[in-house]
Amino acid sequence: MKSRNQSFIIYILLFIAIIAMVFFTVNQQSGAQEEIPINELATDIKNGDVEQIIEDDSRLEITYTNNDIKTSTKDPSTPLIDQLVALGVTPEELTSEGLIIDIQLPSPLLGLVSIASYILPFIILIGLFWFIFRQAQGSNNAAMSFGKSKARMFSGDHPTVTFEDVAGVDEAKEELQEVVEFLREPQKFIALGARIPKGVLLVGAPGTGKTLMAKAVSGEAGTPFFSISGSEFVEMFVGVGASRVRDLFEQAKRHSPAIVFVDEIDAVGRHRGAGLGGSHDEREQTLNQLLVEMDGFDTDTNVIIIAATNRPDILDPALLRPGRFDRRVVLDRPDIKGREEILDVHVKGKPVSPDVDLYDIARSTPGFVGADIENLVNEAAILAARRDKKVIEQSEFMEAIERVIAGPERKSRLINENEKKIIAYHEAGHAVVINALPEADTVQKVSIISRGEAGGYTMAFPEEDRVLKSRRQLMSDMIVLLGGRAAEEVAFNDITSGASNDLERVTKLARTMVMRLGMSEELGPMVYGKQEELVFLGREISEQRDYSEHIAEKIDASIQSLVQNAYDQAKSILSKYRSELDQIANKLLEVETLNADAFYEIFPTPVEKNGGIPEKVV
Ligand code: ADP
Ligand code: MG
Ligand code: ZN
Repeated sequence: MKSRNQSFIIYILLFIAIIAMVFFTVNQQSGAQEEIPINELATDIKNGDVEQIIEDDSRLEITYTNNDIKTSTKDPSTPLIDQLVALGVTPEELTSEGLIIDIQLPSPLLGLVSIASYILPFIILIGLFWFIFRQAQGSNNAAMSFGKSKARMFSGDHPTVTFEDVAGVDEAKEELQEVVEFLREPQKFIALGARIPKGVLLVGAPGTGKTLMAKAVSGEAGTPFFSISGSEFVEMFVGVGASRVRDLFEQAKRHSPAIVFVDEIDAVGRHRGAGLGGSHDEREQTLNQLLVEMDGFDTDTNVIIIAATNRPDILDPALLRPGRFDRRVVLDRPDIKGREEILDVHVKGKPVSPDVDLYDIARSTPGFVGADIENLVNEAAILAARRDKKVIEQSEFMEAIERVIAGPERKSRLINENEKKIIAYHEAGHAVVINALPEADTVQKVSIISRGEAGGYTMAFPEEDRVLKSRRQLMSDMIVLLGGRAAEEVAFNDITSGASNDLERVTKLARTMVMRLGMSEELGPMVYGKQEELVFLGREISEQRDYSEHIAEKIDASIQSLVQNAYDQAKSILSKYRSELDQIANKLLEVETLNADAFYEIFPTPVEKNGGIPEKVV
């Protein structure tokens, strides 16, 4: 804003300067009349041709008896009369009746204008320089203030977030309760000679509530809360990040007991000496400063650092040493009970129909983290508002789940009849395979309404959450993923590009099974290849080969045979249940969406289910 104003002023000044210069030059040349030398004027006076001379400074305007007007210039230092006399005009001729010599006193205003037209351009130029200079200085000042921490302080007096707002992470809350107690009554701990934790590292997937948890700790303890994100530390100029850290800690010490919260600490705390990035030196300095500050804390400083990361594996080991971030609090993805509790927190204060079943919603959202659930509740509220309802009902929640998982419905997408038929068989194929496999989930919904990128979708949820996946379950995941493509082949004897995402996932899964999980019979229980994050490219994963060419061939063959095997199984299941496949595809073409009841009416589950955890949508 400020710099825009300044450049605006510069433009105005430039504009004025140009106008003034133009005015000045025009003024100089004003009067396009014929200019004659002064001796010619003298001759004309002698001849009696001149009627009037108007003398304005050194400029002469001469009116002739025949009404011609010419101009001339006199020497500014001597009076006109003297000059004319010197050129041989007699005093009689000068005072003859027909001639009027009119000396114009310079008008004060005109004088000002002419003075201004000389001086103004200079003033403007000086002004311009001044502005440019000031601007340069301004940015200099800004560079100085970069060193100041941008930490935002939230006062603990009016806690906005408490432990009540954080649901489903009871263990984490318990551990942090200790930190809260210390901040409230440090003396109690110090009296017993207990060493107080300096740093707490919150670890968890994005959206699991790390930021929320840190705020809740400060809310519970009633202490000031200084928050800054790791990426804010690392900015433009070398050394600035380090001075920010210093400033942040000074502020916190002044307000102690206090909490310093460093969000996304992996931005500064990466392994030192790793990576080739340009900002890498900067990061190292910042990290060093952070370590120095943490070591400099006395036990009675009463400042606790809480840091959050979703990548603890890439943090510098120095940060994790005892005496620094020695406490690690893990925020897991919530289980079904946790999800129900988080739902409860977020529906509070919203008008929700009494028949809404939060447990059912929790069951339908495996893998959701707190942020997803917040988003889900919000989507449901928006849907209810758009349907002009007074309360949010179960149907809005269910629709919202699909929106969050697969994106909004795209009913307007034009699909021709033939394509619709292929999509119907593709989705029916996934669903039939899910239903026929003992290890797979239960089908919740099949639809050929396109959502987001997908042409159609099949949703299946497990009956309960699971932590481990068996080899057989992973195999069944692959068969389910390939069910769509297999149905296309079984029904049309041709295949389409619609399965590209399925194929990508299935290949990745097979690769993981062989190389990371040791699930290939030929290659045995070993991990192949070292995965390393290329720091300078951010997310890129590079794989370092630590196996021979011979093994590489075996890996490829093993992956290929896993996928091929899964595909053959999918095809054989679909051939076996061909009539069910046709019925479901036809029903889909008719009504577009089948819920669980409609699906099982056509195709009752033919096997005893013992659970599996495929991805939520295929
Ligand atoms: P993170 O920092 O781990 O990425 P956030 O703390 O920013 O996640 O969480 C984002 C939002 O998700 C929070 O503002 C909150 O509304 C919701 N949320 C996340 N976890 C929980 C939880 N355990 N209980 C209640 N709400 C949660
Ligand atoms: Mg966060
Ligand atoms: Zn598919």
